[in-house]
Amino acid sequence: MSSVEKTLSIVKPDAVERNLTENIKEYFLKNNLKIVKEKKIQVSKDEAAEFYRVHQTKPFYDRLCNYLSSGPITVMILEGENAIKENRRIMGATDPKNAEDGTIRKKYGISIDKNSIHGSDSVENAKKEIEFFFKN
Ligand code: UDP
Ligand code: MG
Repeated sequence: MSSVEKTLSIVKPDAVERNLTENIKEYFLKNNLKIVKEKKIQVSKDEAAEFYRVHQTKPFYDRLCNYLSSGPITVMILEGENAIKENRRIMGATDPKNAEDGTIRKKYGISIDKNSIHGSDSVENAKKEIEFFFKN
């Protein structure tokens, strides 16, 4: 069964810094994901810590929060058929070394830390993450 969903995408600091936002948006558009909202912001370390709190017990948590708050990011709401899973497919595996050919992380990811992109992983998290960045 298919359904139209919304999901949250973040172009992370390493990719914004290398001016890759427009290239990354092309991946979404050519895979039938519409960009319904978009903004460029910078989050504080506290905001990053709240956003990533599902990872608070992980050894990489502190580094991850420092990294996400280290520079501008572009956050987007994507919409389309099975958008959550589709976006994850287009992103590729978390570690760019393991990412499939044709994915964003394969093309642009530098390391497991600097992997260029975030995407929600479930309907429930997509809803929470969209609300986190687009409250009004
Ligand atoms: N991460 C990391 N080291 C790890 C696992 C994850 O630095 O061993 C970072 C990585 O940037 C990843 C983020 O933490 O994108 C969130 O991890 P998750 O497992 O949710 O991966 P994702 O959903 O981003 O593929
Ligand atoms: Mg995740």
